[in-house]
Amino acid sequence: MKLRHNYHTHTSRCKHAKGSDRDYIEAAIAAGIRTLGISDHVPLPYHNGYVSNLRMAVEDIGEYFETFSSLREEYRGRIELLIGFEVEYFPKMFDEVLSILDDYPCDYLLLGQHEIEDEQNEPYLGKAFSDKKTLERHTDMTIEAIETGEFLYLAHPDIANFVGDEEFYLQQARRVCRAAKEAELPLEINILGMRDLRWYPRGLFFEAAAEEGNTLIFGIDAHAPEQFTDEKALEAERDCIEFAESFELEILDKIL
Ligand SMILES: [Zn+2]
Ligand SMILES: [Zn+2]
Repeated sequence: MKLRHNYHTHTSRCKHAKGSDRDYIEAAIAAGIRTLGISDHVPLPYHNGYVSNLRMAVEDIGEYFETFSSLREEYRGRIELLIGFEVEYFPKMFDEVLSILDDYPCDYLLLGQHEIEDEQNEPYLGKAFSDKKTLERHTDMTIEAIETGEFLYLAHPDIANFVGDEEFYLQQARRVCRAAKEAELPLEINILGMRDLRWYPRGLFFEAAAEEGNTLIFGIDAHAPEQFTDEKALEAERDCIEFAESFELEILDKIL
């Protein structure tokens, strides 16, 4: 198996990814990718003056679509470009996010629930924690997001770096997997997590997925062009394939 379709790619607009738009596309072509989904961190419409340093600004959306629409034409026949976003589901502003995006030809949204329900006032869940209530709230919010039906797949479903009771973790993982299964929403094996030796992809989470019978998909989650092509990229892809195959679940390929 070889990765040919990747829907999880960032751009420098989010302020923590590097490289030009063109460099990402050229690197993806060099890596044999045929469908390249651009899914930068969605702008969030805070009205209290808060400025996120982790995502593009609302004012950049127009340029984002213009640039990638024209690159899509330029590269037609060599690679298929799709334009989407990675989105947190924050109930207080989700409708507004959708209505902002309504004005643009957005191909898809990935769900990436990095915090529970707010970026400004809540911690990133990648910082190790053991509080059960926090994990439960994150699970609740993820399930509510899945049930909106707005998402193509769930990115790094194992993002919560919960280091407490494993039985409790499994219970919560099963809840997410069951909701995803009912909504027919694939779960991502995140290649960046493997590449950077993060706490995810987490075997315990995918044991729950194996029980529930979910479908899986790979996402590079590229934050730099070389994450398609360098030696570490090939190694992380191989490791993810081996990891995914160990659960005997259906692995999806082209979904858009
Ligand atoms: Zn990012
Ligand atoms: Zn991402």
